[in-house]
Amino acid sequence: MSVDFDIRPNPAPASAAERAALLANPGFGRVFTDHMVTIRYADGKGWYDARVEARAPIPMDPATAVLHYAQEIFEGLKAYHTAGGGVTMFRPEANAARFRTSAERMAMAPLPDELFLASLHELIKVDRDWIPTTDDGSLYLRPFMFASEVFLGVKPSSEYLYLVIASPVGSYFKGGVQPVSVWVSQDYTRAAPGGTGAAKCGGNYAASLLPQAQAVENGCDQALFLDAVQRRYVDELSGMNVFYVYADGSLVTPPLTGSILPGITRDSVITLAREKGLRVVERPYSFAEWQADAASGELREAFACGTAAVITPIGTVRWPGGEFTVGGGESGPVTMDLRQQLVDIQRGRADDPHGWVHRVL
Ligand SMILES: *Cc1c(COP(=O)(O)O)cnc(C)c1O
Repeated sequence: MSVDFDIRPNPAPASAAERAALLANPGFGRVFTDHMVTIRYADGKGWYDARVEARAPIPMDPATAVLHYAQEIFEGLKAYHTAGGGVTMFRPEANAARFRTSAERMAMAPLPDELFLASLHELIKVDRDWIPTTDDGSLYLRPFMFASEVFLGVKPSSEYLYLVIASPVGSYFKGGVQPVSVWVSQDYTRAAPGGTGAAKCGGNYAASLLPQAQAVENGCDQALFLDAVQRRYVDELSGMNVFYVYADGSLVTPPLTGSILPGITRDSVITLAREKGLRVVERPYSFAEWQADAASGELREAFACGTAAVITPIGTVRWPGGEFTVGGGESGPVTMDLRQQLVDIQRGRADDPHGWVHRVL
């Protein structure tokens, strides 16, 4: 598959001074680079019109399918400046593969992995000056694709638009890593067996917003979801997988049975933990077990993980029936050690025996 990108530089990019001002305190997801990638797909024609162009609104007919039936998927990964002045990404091949799997579940045209990777390279090349050079900054890349056919019939769209936008981000935690509090949702679930929980689709997030708002109303940072069938076992947060660290040095994480998103951070954590000689068990983990083992002290640490925050300790657990803490509500040593090692690999400060770091420039 060979698609050439038509590079159309933004005629009015941000000035160096404007960019510097925006990069001084970018926050998360509010500042965007000068360009975006667009690639079109149509049944019978395949992928065509690959472009890097000025970031701009996308005009849309009111009958565009995605606005009605939510056929949409996305990815999230980061590009980093290396100490030597180069640019890298972390495991983008895994994002390419997941994007394809998500597309298949949503009956969308799968974008070839080479095209996914090439689109990231092309955007980084034109917008490389937007990558923060601070120790904990990065360029967050957001590839996404939606049903662009103009038709109200309920069926898989015959046309898709794929885009990549990029957003410089600063440190997720201002003033160091802080444990989060989670609200165990009793009224809502995120994904059911046979549903779309393992696909990275916008609809899963739409379903999580009301329980997330309830979490905030109850003084918590994040909603945590239990399984949709028995409402007993931990699934995950709305955008992060979870791990439990036991006194005997073993780790437990819920298995990938279809309702959980297969996180690339989750996979990396499992690999790193095993290399440290820790036992990692993927098995159903009940909320009752969490409560009992936190109370007895057998459970030492709990953490959440995903691209945006990397690894976040879970300090407090709350639900309508009460509240408890894990590890005294503090960050634990295993959590922080895994976090440090993963961040060091991502930033080229530690060896990368698995070939996870992908050189761009
Ligand atoms: C993206 C996502 C994650 C984390 O995946 P990473 O590849 O580690 O960023 C976890 N859960 C859900 C629901 C997600 O959408």
